[in-house]
Amino acid sequence: MNQQKNMKGNPYFRDQVATVSREGDRVWVYAKEAKGRLTNYRKLVSYALLILFFGLPFVKIGGAPIFLFDFLDRQLIIFGIHLYPQDFHLMFLAMLTIFVLVILVNVSFGRIWCGWLCPQTLLMEFVFRKIEFIVEGDHKKQRILNSKGFSVEKLLRKSVKHALFFSICFIITNTFLAYIIGVDELWQIISDPVSMHLWGFIAALLFTLVMYVVFSQVRELVCTFVCPYGRLQGVLSDSNTIMVSYDYKRGEPRGAGSSGDCFDCKRCIAVCPTGIDIRNGTQLECINCTACIDECNQIMDQAGYPKGLIRYASENMIASGSQFKLTFRIVAYIVVVVILLTTLIGLTVTRSSLETTILRTPGSLYMEQGTDSISNVYNYKVVNKTASEMDVSFKIMAPDGHIRLIGKLLPVPVDGRTEGVFFIDRKRTKIKQSSDKITIGVFSDGKRIETVDITFVGPTKP
Ligand code: SF4
Ligand code: SF4
Repeated sequence: MNQQKNMKGNPYFRDQVATVSREGDRVWVYAKEAKGRLTNYRKLVSYALLILFFGLPFVKIGGAPIFLFDFLDRQLIIFGIHLYPQDFHLMFLAMLTIFVLVILVNVSFGRIWCGWLCPQTLLMEFVFRKIEFIVEGDHKKQRILNSKGFSVEKLLRKSVKHALFFSICFIITNTFLAYIIGVDELWQIISDPVSMHLWGFIAALLFTLVMYVVFSQVRELVCTFVCPYGRLQGVLSDSNTIMVSYDYKRGEPRGAGSSGDCFDCKRCIAVCPTGIDIRNGTQLECINCTACIDECNQIMDQAGYPKGLIRYASENMIASGSQFKLTFRIVAYIVVVVILLTTLIGLTVTRSSLETTILRTPGSLYMEQGTDSISNVYNYKVVNKTASEMDVSFKIMAPDGHIRLIGKLLPVPVDGRTEGVFFIDRKRTKIKQSSDKITIGVFSDGKRIETVDITFVGPTKP
């Protein structure tokens, strides 16, 4: 006997989305406010993450922001680490690690990301829906208010709600902007007259408007129709994936007076922000928000039944009545993620703080200096990848020669570069072939930061 055979509600639930009627109209979800242990934990996680999101642009290390995603100026700072196009391999590895982590966590633990960490869910459930509850009242009052015709009260409540929604979206837009251009630059723009940044202001308003439409109108449809991660659930989960599940073995047959534990009170549906009935089994719309777990646990508590009629469990766990087991597959996934993370951390920690390029000046050959020396001319470029200015110097490590700088080697500024030209002079007697490899050490504060190999050309037979 499987769960679908037990399903007594809408027999078309697999053929249609809960928030769209069979006629194609939107079915608005008036979700009851969720309360309970898991919801409290989710609130804690959400508010901690929101504080981080709004607060991080203000955190600086050595005057530079801890996070900056200035793609236009090719400046990227993550956890205070300044990344450059030369660090593409690190960024690629970081993206790969995140991708694999999300996929692997999903395969084992379902849509944990959606319910606990996704910004769309956090903002929708713990910011915008909260405001709605405060301004318009609970789900019943909201339904009544929307079914009423025009009234001053309705106009007032709707105006306050939408004004708050739009203002919060505008703040979020500016926070995103702070991550891109930095909080100082953002403050400068805000202090300037709007006319000085008219196009930027219009772009910010448009972004705000899109976000406002998402949170005030589109809502759960983003998770169902727009989010690619949501669409991938069919291939990312299987019957061993842990997700929010209804224990149909224990719950059925449902209804008052039946032998199953489910009272068919439908309170799990009332709290669901995507409007589905979890008792129908795994569904595309379920974001694993745990609201139905908390709600059903309250019912079970009141009836003196054990909690967990709806709980985190896999299809196989429900079918066999077994407990969660650490399977070989989960362990293998953890090992893969640990290897990727270790490699990423290792490469980041051992990454050079300077990036030096030294190339022979294009078109130049060797020059004779007097009768006993040969010189080559080079262009150098040193990029500073740290949050502090660096003094640098060059030294020939092998095989021999002398560096003659044209001008002075200037300190390399934060997020900046120093460029220039130098000669390398070598004794004719030391030159054994027409093209020699020379190793140059790049030093800062007496410490060798990196070595660069270059070629030195000379006459075939000196
Ligand atoms: S809340 Fe629990 S008891 Fe009520 S209908 Fe849902 S599963 Fe059944
Ligand atoms: S079914 Fe339960 S876990 Fe899934 S979205 Fe609805 S309330 Fe959240």
